Amino acid sequence: TNASTITKNPDYNIWLIFTKVSTKSPLTVKFENLLYNLLNVSSVLLNFNIIVDEKSKSIALLKLTEIMVKANKSMNYKFYDVQDCARKITDIYDAMMPFFSSKPGTYYSDALFYISLGLYRVAPIKQKRAILLDCDLYFKKDVALLFEEFQWFKSTAFFGLAPELTPVYKHILHMYKRKHKTTFGEFYHQRPLSPSSPNHPKGFQGYNSGVVLVDFEKQRNSTEFSKIITKESVINMTEKYKFRGHLGDQDFYTLLGYEYPELIQTLNCGFNRQLCTWWRDHGYREIFDYYFKCDHPIVVLHGNCNTRIPMD
Ligand code: UDP
Ligand code: MN
Repeated sequence: TNASTITKNPDYNIWLIFTKVSTKSPLTVKFENLLYNLLNVSSVLLNFNIIVDEKSKSIALLKLTEIMVKANKSMNYKFYDVQDCARKITDIYDAMMPFFSSKPGTYYSDALFYISLGLYRVAPIKQKRAILLDCDLYFKKDVALLFEEFQWFKSTAFFGLAPELTPVYKHILHMYKRKHKTTFGEFYHQRPLSPSSPNHPKGFQGYNSGVVLVDFEKQRNSTEFSKIITKESVINMTEKYKFRGHLGDQDFYTLLGYEYPELIQTLNCGFNRQLCTWWRDHGYREIFDYYFKCDHPIVVLHGNCNTRIPMD
C-alpha cells in the first residue's frame, strides 16, 4: 500500500475484546493467531484497540511483542480497561440483559456482550468508524476489503453486519411465527413469501455479531439512536416478537433488522463466514444447510462455538 492512502484515511480502527484468560486459554491462542493473521493480511496500517482486564493485559502485551518480532512488523495498539468500558454502557446493559443474556447479571464483564452498541462512548473522539472483531476469526483476504464496505453504507446505517448462518432466530421466533405470516427467521435464499413482510421480503436469518462495522460519527450525532437503546424500546420490540434470546448484542441487531432495517447495512456472508453447525444436530437437520450456505467469496472465517478453522 502507499502512504498517501493511509494519510488520507487514517481510520483503520480494529477493536478486540480479550478478557478472562490465562496463558493456556484457547482464547489466548485465538488472539495470537488473529493478530498474526491480521498483520500479514492487511494492506493498511491498523490501529488496534484492545479491551482487557489486568491479567489479560499482561498476557496480551507478551503476545503482541512476540508477534511483532515474528512478523517483523510494528503495530499501533492501545488498551482499554474492561471495568471502565462496562461502566460507560451500564444503561445499555440494564436495558438488554433481561432479554438477551443467558445467565444475567453476575460479572461486570457480561456487559461486554453489549459493548458494540456503546463503543462510540469508549472510543477516542478522533475515531470516526471502527470494526469490532471476535478473536475466533481468520482472514483469508485483506482486512481492507472489510473497511471498503463502509463506502456502501446507506446514509441511515449505523452498523454493518453479515447474516447469522443458522436457524437460531427461526427457533426464537417460534411463538410469533405461529400467529404471524412473516419472512423473519426464514432463510434468505427463499423466494418472496408474503407481501406482509416488506422488510427483507426474501427471508431474514438475523445478524451475527462476530464482525461489526460501526459508524461512530453517525451514532454520536444521532438523537434517534439513544432512543432505540432505551429499556422502553427494548421492551416494546421483545414483547412484539415474543423474543427471548441469549446471544447479547446480536439479538438486539436482529430485532433492529425487523423494526428498523434502515439502521443496518447488510454485509454479504463472505465477510463473516460462520462455521458452527450446532443447530444441525439440534432439531434443524432438514433445513440447516439452507441457512448455512454461503456463495460469496470468503474474506473472513469465523470459528464460532469453538469450531476449528480449516487453514487450507
Ligand atoms: N471473549 C473474551 N473472554 C471470554 C469469552 C469471550 O474476551 O472469556 C470475547 C472474545 O473476543 C471472543 C468474543 O468475546 O471472540 C465472543 O466470544 P466467542 O467468539 O467465543 O463466541 P461465539 O462466536 O462462539 O458465539
Ligand atoms: Mn466468535
